[in-house]
Amino acid sequence: MRKTHIVGNWKMNQNLAEINSFASAVLDMNDISCEAWIAPQAIHISKLKELIKTIKVGAQNCSNQNSGAYTGELSPESLKDLGAHFVIIGHSERRAIFNEADTLLNEKVLKALENGLKAILCVGETLEERESGEFKTVLKNQLLNGLKGISSADQENILIAYEPVWAIGTGKVATPEQAQEVHAFLRNELKSVEALEASRTPILYGGSVKPDNIQGLLENTDIDGALVGGASLKGESFKDLCQLSK
Ligand code: PEP
Repeated sequence: MRKTHIVGNWKMNQNLAEINSFASAVLDMNDISCEAWIAPQAIHISKLKELIKTIKVGAQNCSNQNSGAYTGELSPESLKDLGAHFVIIGHSERRAIFNEADTLLNEKVLKALENGLKAILCVGETLEERESGEFKTVLKNQLLNGLKGISSADQENILIAYEPVWAIGTGKVATPEQAQEVHAFLRNELKSVEALEASRTPILYGGSVKPDNIQGLLENTDIDGALVGGASLKGESFKDLCQLSK
């Protein structure tokens, strides 16, 4: 049985006042059966953990190194020390804006796992890649390259997020049929990763998920939750997403 995960990605948003009002809005969120996770800016991890006990807190990125002369980097070892539960790796903004490629992302996945963090590996195609018909090859490469070298001990700590780039922050959500088709494809590709059992690996969908479209997505067999940007910023909306997720 794969548990439903609702993961908020706050990106470089939310000041302290906004975090406080988010926390007040989700204070009564006790009746949920999903895993509720939030990745704030890393500087706010401790604050968010202190304010909200029902939500697990993680990071949006980490380094492929634990320590050393890497000015400005975010050590996975220190994230673990701080009580981070998970880290998002390979978000399309990291791939596109910061030129992070599969080899580096694979190193980050391995380093996060080595430090006892759960790793959410994001994959997703651009609109051009979808329209060219080559998008499944792109997704397969991102998936299999990102997971190289993992071991069966990592099974419980690996999650995949399918985030079509054309759906992120655009209001243009993939249809449940489009998302299910890709999730089934990814699950099938996971069968070639010896360390993992494809049927036990959660695959989340991300891209313009909101309370009014989440149920249609989660009804599909291979969609195990959502990675949510914009609609995770307001406590009421995040609470609705969690409460609508069984
Ligand atoms: C994201 O940033 O991962 C994301 C899916 O954003 P949004 O929900 O705003 O499309």
